[in-house]
Amino acid sequence: MIPRTIFDSEHDLFRSSVRKFLEKEAVPFHAQWEKDGQVDRKLWNKAGEQGFLGPTVPEEYGGVGVNFLYNAIVDEEIARLGLSGLGWGLHSDIGIPYIINYGSDAVKDKFIPGCITGDIVTAIAMTEPGAGSDLQGVQTTAVLDGDEYVINGSKTFITNGLHADLVIVVAKTDPKQGASGTSLILVEADRPGYTKGTNLEKIGLKAQDTSELFFQDVRVPKENLLGEEGQGFIYLMNELPQERISVSTTAVAAAESILEHTINYVKERKAFGKPIAAFQNTQFKLAEMDTEITSARVFLDRCLELHLERKLDIPTAAKAKLLTTELQCRVMDECLQLFGGFGYMWEYPVARAWADSRVQRIYAGTNEVMKIIISRSLLA
Ligand SMILES: Cc1cc2nc3c(=O)[nH]c(=O)nc-3n(C[C@H](O)[C@H](O)[C@H](O)COP(=O)(O)OP(=O)(O)OC[C@H]3O[C@@H](n4cnc5c(N)ncnc54)[C@H](O)[C@@H]3O)c2cc1C
Repeated sequence: MIPRTIFDSEHDLFRSSVRKFLEKEAVPFHAQWEKDGQVDRKLWNKAGEQGFLGPTVPEEYGGVGVNFLYNAIVDEEIARLGLSGLGWGLHSDIGIPYIINYGSDAVKDKFIPGCITGDIVTAIAMTEPGAGSDLQGVQTTAVLDGDEYVINGSKTFITNGLHADLVIVVAKTDPKQGASGTSLILVEADRPGYTKGTNLEKIGLKAQDTSELFFQDVRVPKENLLGEEGQGFIYLMNELPQERISVSTTAVAAAESILEHTINYVKERKAFGKPIAAFQNTQFKLAEMDTEITSARVFLDRCLELHLERKLDIPTAAKAKLLTTELQCRVMDECLQLFGGFGYMWEYPVARAWADSRVQRIYAGTNEVMKIIISRSLLA
């Protein structure tokens, strides 16, 4: 066991309050939310009251102004308990930072306090039916008409798609240009012409609302532009390391948690007159998984430290995402195998964790895209 050194006693107190809250307010209801395809919207406000949404936001906008480790603690506790329906990571680690980092003071005053209380749920809409990995192919347009942008297009696979009150839309303000014609524009969900598609049926993350979004002549004031026109791609590149560290944080915590469940199970379950844990195959599998998880944990904690110092570069964040999500999927699969048929039953946490893990290799940039980023840095 290598002790973690990035947290202090304040972090431990915060972790324990997040854990208590989730055990009371989310764990007993999550199975029902999976059937509903979304969490209870009231949970967002309850979390906001506790200061669990956007902890890094400065106090002047209603936050508590702490560092990203607090976000990581929330992500870890959610993953540890298998509460994959809660889209808080997307909101706190990805959505809010775009507004804080690139929004005008007026925009921050208008939207951020609601993001902290849970009155405003955010989403980010990059992916389109015809453009995922290759975001230069985005077809959604935002054309300036007087003081307003007029937005047309459609997005798909959007996390928090149904609950979102405010969406960061990746759109072309200059469709003739590729990356340099791309901008980020905030769109409120009550704007005429904005519609939400159905809740998409997924193989995992059953309680998370993921949907298509449609924009037909949606008008927003030009103040809703984040930063400068044409800089959207640069902003996306700047923010993606945090998104990837957030995904990695979930990956390692989920793997640790399921390994713990599995260790308990193999000590209890018997075959051929002895516990499953007595077979050398089981022991070797557990040893391999624990070794790999420990290494990933140490690497990820170092990445978190670098991120706090603003020194985490894009290739290193890509390495973290690649390493931890591949590991997460392998661990879930090996653990499920050790549970035998029970592992295939939805009521067992390992079954859900196995299904939930698969998407981690796909979103936040696919793992093939991570390899492209890493190899480019090696060959540059
Ligand atoms: C549950 C879920 C939630 C999501 N949430 C969001 C969200 O909140 N907001 C959002 O904008 N998007 C979201 N996404 C979309 C996600 O980011 C994309 O699915 C992802 O970026 C991949 O894009 P794609 O699906 O179009 O795949 P494609 O880009 O079509 O890729 C298909 C395959 O080709 C590979 N490939 C592509 N290009 C290359 C290349 N150059 N070299 C080698 N291989 C390549 C990919 O790695 C992949 O294996 C979500 C997706 C899911 C499933």
